[in-house]
Amino acid sequence: MCRHLAYVGPPLTLDRLLVRPAHGLYEQSWQPRRQRHGTVNADGFGVGWYPLGPAPDGAPGTGDADDAGFPQPVRYRRAVPVWADANFAELAPAIRSGAVLAAVRSATAGTTQDESAAAPFKDGRWLFSHNGAVRDWTRLPTGLTEAELLGLEAHCDSAALWAMLTALLRQGQPPGGALASVARRVAAARPDARLNFLLTDGRTIAATAWGDTLWYRTGPGAALVASEPDEEPPAPHTADQAPGLGEWREVPDRSLLLATTAGVRIIPLRPPGAADR
Ligand code: GLN
Repeated sequence: MCRHLAYVGPPLTLDRLLVRPAHGLYEQSWQPRRQRHGTVNADGFGVGWYPLGPAPDGAPGTGDADDAGFPQPVRYRRAVPVWADANFAELAPAIRSGAVLAAVRSATAGTTQDESAAAPFKDGRWLFSHNGAVRDWTRLPTGLTEAELLGLEAHCDSAALWAMLTALLRQGQPPGGALASVARRVAAARPDARLNFLLTDGRTIAATAWGDTLWYRTGPGAALVASEPDEEPPAPHTADQAPGLGEWREVPDRSLLLATTAGVRIIPLRPPGAADR
C-alpha cells in the first residue's frame, strides 16, 4: 500500500508540509507506522500542487488557469524513492502552495514500475491518488471501452480506477458522489478490493477510507488529510509554519470524507448493492 496526503489552506512550502514533520509523508516512504499492507514505499513518489496566483503568461508548466481563473495543478513524479531524489530535496523548500496532493508508492505486483503509475494522476484541475489494490483488475467491469483501457496512462489498477472516476467527473458528478460510486461498483465485483481514494481540485478534498488507514486534522482555514498522522504538534501559523492545526482524528473504515478550508464532513458509505443516494 502506499501513503498519501492532501492539504488545502494557507500556503506552505512542500518542505514544511511533507519533508520536515517527524513521521510525515517523506519519512513514511521508509518507515510508515500504521500501514496495513506492504512495508516500505520506495517504488516512486509524486507531488501535485496548485501554483499561487494566476500563471504569469499561461506558459506551459507554470499552471494555466481554468475558466474561473484558478490555476491548473503542476506535478513532479519520479520512479525512485523520494529520499533518493536530490532534485526533490532542492525543490521542496522553494515551492509554496495552498493546495497539495502527494503520495509515496509501494507498487502492486504486475503494474507499471515507471513514474506514469506514480500518483497523483491528473485530469484538468483534478489530482487523484489511490492507496490500495484491486485483484484481477484487467477483468474488472469498469464500463470503459477497450480503447480507453488500452489508452490508460499506466498498466495499473489505480490508472483504471482513475479512468472510471474521470468519466464521472467529466459528466459533472460531484467529487464525493463520484468516489463513492466507483468504490461501491468496484467492491461489488471485488469484495476484497482496497480503495482508499484521495481527490482534490485545489479547493476541496474528497477521500475514502476503504481497507486502509485515513486521518485528518483541521485548523483555521485549513484541512489536512493523510493516510497516517505525523507528530506535528499544533502550532500558530507564520509564513512557513503550518496553520494552527488541531488534533489528528481517524476516519472510520468504509467512509467518505469531504473537506474544504471551512471544515470536514464524514459520511458512512453503504455496502455495495444498496441504492445510491
Ligand atoms: N495499486 C496501486 C499501485 O500499484 C497502489 C499501491 C499501494 O497502495 N501501495 O500503485
